[in-house]
Amino acid sequence: MALLQISEPGQSLDPHQRRVAVGIDLGTTHSLVAAVRHGVSECLPAIDGRVILPSVVRYLDPAQGGSGRQIGFDALAAQVQDPANTVSSVKRLMGRSRAQVSDVDKLSYQVVDQDGMAVIETVAGRKTPMEVSAEILATLRFRAEDSFDDDLYGAVITVPAYFDDAQRQATKDAAQLAGINVLRLINEPTAAAIAYGLDNGSEGVYAIYDLGGGTFDISILRLTQGVFEVMATGGDSALGGDDYDQALAAWVLQQQGVDAVLTASERAAVHAEARRVKEALSSSASETFRASVAGRQIEQTVTPADFEACTAAFTARTMTAVRKVLRDAGVDKHEVQGVVMVGGSTRMPVIRRTVGEFFGSDPLTNLNPDEVVALGAAVQANALAGNSRDGDLLLLDVIPLSLGIETMGGLVERIVPRNSAIPTARAQDFTTYQDGQTALALHVVQGERDLVADCRSLARFVLRGIPPMVAGAARIRVTFTVDADGLLSVAAKEQGSGVEARVDVKPAYGLSDEQIAAMLQESFATAQQDIQARALVEARVDADRMIAATRTALAADADLLEPAEREQFDALMASLATTAAGEDAKAIENATSELAKATEPFAALRMNRGIQQALSGKKLEEV
Ligand code: ADP
Ligand code: MG
Repeated sequence: MALLQISEPGQSLDPHQRRVAVGIDLGTTHSLVAAVRHGVSECLPAIDGRVILPSVVRYLDPAQGGSGRQIGFDALAAQVQDPANTVSSVKRLMGRSRAQVSDVDKLSYQVVDQDGMAVIETVAGRKTPMEVSAEILATLRFRAEDSFDDDLYGAVITVPAYFDDAQRQATKDAAQLAGINVLRLINEPTAAAIAYGLDNGSEGVYAIYDLGGGTFDISILRLTQGVFEVMATGGDSALGGDDYDQALAAWVLQQQGVDAVLTASERAAVHAEARRVKEALSSSASETFRASVAGRQIEQTVTPADFEACTAAFTARTMTAVRKVLRDAGVDKHEVQGVVMVGGSTRMPVIRRTVGEFFGSDPLTNLNPDEVVALGAAVQANALAGNSRDGDLLLLDVIPLSLGIETMGGLVERIVPRNSAIPTARAQDFTTYQDGQTALALHVVQGERDLVADCRSLARFVLRGIPPMVAGAARIRVTFTVDADGLLSVAAKEQGSGVEARVDVKPAYGLSDEQIAAMLQESFATAQQDIQARALVEARVDADRMIAATRTALAADADLLEPAEREQFDALMASLATTAAGEDAKAIENATSELAKATEPFAALRMNRGIQQALSGKKLEEV
C-alpha cells in the first residue's frame, strides 16, 4: 500500500506540489530574488552565499573567445578596468530614447539611438537595455531553479512607481528574453508594504520612502480591511545614492585642488571610493578617502558632518517630494501612522534622522532595506501562483498622470484622473458635433493640462460607421481600461448601432520621470491660466454651434420671419462672430445667450410648423 503524505497543520505542501514562484527586485544598482518557503519570505543566495546581485553586465571581446560576458560581482569588479564595456544602471535606459536618459553623458559606456531607442555600444556589438536586463533576470531565474531544483513557474517583478507604459513593457520584454513568465509587475513601494506585513497591522495611512542607488520614490498607502490602496506616488527618478557618491567625490577633489579632467577609469575609481567611504560613514565617525588621480595620490579625511554638508541638497530634495506627495494624497504628515524605509541609501543616518524629524516618529527599519522589495514581491508571487492559503492580496497601484480624450476646440476631457488606483475601467459618453456625422476621430492624451496642445499624445483612432443622425443624437461610449500592469486600452462604441473601435496604447517611448514631474509642476503653476483658456475655448465652441444652428434654421424657415427680425438675427450673428474672435470668454457667452434669446420665438414658430407638417393629412384621433 502506498503511503499517503500528510503535511503538518500550518506547514506548506510537498515542495513538488507547489509551483515555484519568486519575487524579483530588478534594481538600478542591485537585483535580488526571493521566494516564500515554509511560509516565510526569504531572499535566495547565490552559491557564494550572497543574496545581492549587482545589476552589472560586462561584455567581453568575442575575438578573445570565452563565454562572452560577466554578470554581477565579476562584472562590477571589472568596471574600473573596462568601463566602456561594463553596463551598470541599465534600468535608467529601459524603454527610453537616448535623449530621455538623464545624465547620459556621465555613464561610463556609449549610448546611441537605434529605432528611437537607447542601445549600448559594446565590444560585442550593440546591446539593448532589455538584453542587458535579461542577463540579470536569467541569472536570478537559474539561481531560483537551482535552489528549488525545479522549473520556475513565474515571477512577480517590481518596477518603480513612476515607470510608464514603455518602461513597464520593456521590463516585461526583458523577462520574456530571460524565459520568465511574468505573473505581474508591481510597484516597489507596494511590495515593501507587503513585506512589512502592514496588511496585517492596524488600518490607516503609511508612507514608503525608497531611496535606492539611482531613484527616489515616495508613496502614500492607505490600508483598509487588509487591502492597500496607493493614494499617491511621487519622487524623483534622477536622485539616489549615486548622487551622494558623486557629490562626495566632487567635494574631495575640490578639497584636494584637483581640477584636471579625469580619465574614464579614474572617474570610475573615484566614484567607487566615494561610495565605499559613504557607506562606511553610515557606521563610523570618520573615514579616509584614498585615490590616485591625475598622477598623484590623494588622501582626505571625511567626517559625517562633511558628508552631510556636501550632500544636503539631495536630502532636502527628497523632503520636497515628500511634502508634495502628501499634498497630492490630501493627508497631513501627522496622519501618517508609519514610515517604511526602503533602499540601501536609507541606511544613511542623516536620512533616518531627517525623515523621523519630519514625521515626528521613528521610521520602520527592522527589515533589511535592500531586501524588503524582493521579499514583498515573493509574497505576492506566492499568492498569484495559488500557493498561499490566505487567498490573493488585492493590490492597487496608481497611474501617475491623468488620461483623457480630446474634445471640440482642442480641450481635454479627463476620463481617468491622476492617482486613480489600477486596474481600473472608466467610461464616459460623447456625441457627434455635426448633422450626419458618420465617423469620430478619437485622440487619447495624457497629462494634467486643459489644452491638448499642452498634454502628451498617446494614440489616435477613428470610430467609423456611425449611422447618420442629427448632431448630438449619437451616444458614443468611450471606455478606458488600465490593466494591473498599467497598460491602457481605449474602446469607443456607438450605443445605438453597436459599431465599435478600440486601440491598445502601444508603449510609445515613455516620458522620463523628470518630464512627468515637469508636467505636473506646470499644471499646478498654470491651473488658473488653464481654467481661463478652457472657458474661452468652450465659449467659442458654443458660439460656433449657436451660429451654425441659426444658419441651418434660417436656410429652412426664413419665410416665417419679418424682415426686421431677420435683420436683427443677422446683426446678432455678426456681432457674436466678432466677439468670438476676441479673447473675452464672458463677452462671448453673453453674445451667445443674446442670440439664443432673440431666436427663441423663431424656434417656437419652427417647432409649430414641424408639428403641423407632421400632422397634416391625419385625423386628430390618430395622433
Ligand atoms: P537600487 O534599488 O536603486 O538598486 P539599492 O536599494 O540597492 O538601490 O541601494 C543602493 C544604494 O544604497 C547605493 O547607492 C549604495 O551606495 C547605498 N548603500 C548601501 N549600503 C549603504 C550604507 N551602509 N550606507 C549608505 N548607503 C548605502
Ligand atoms: Mg530599489
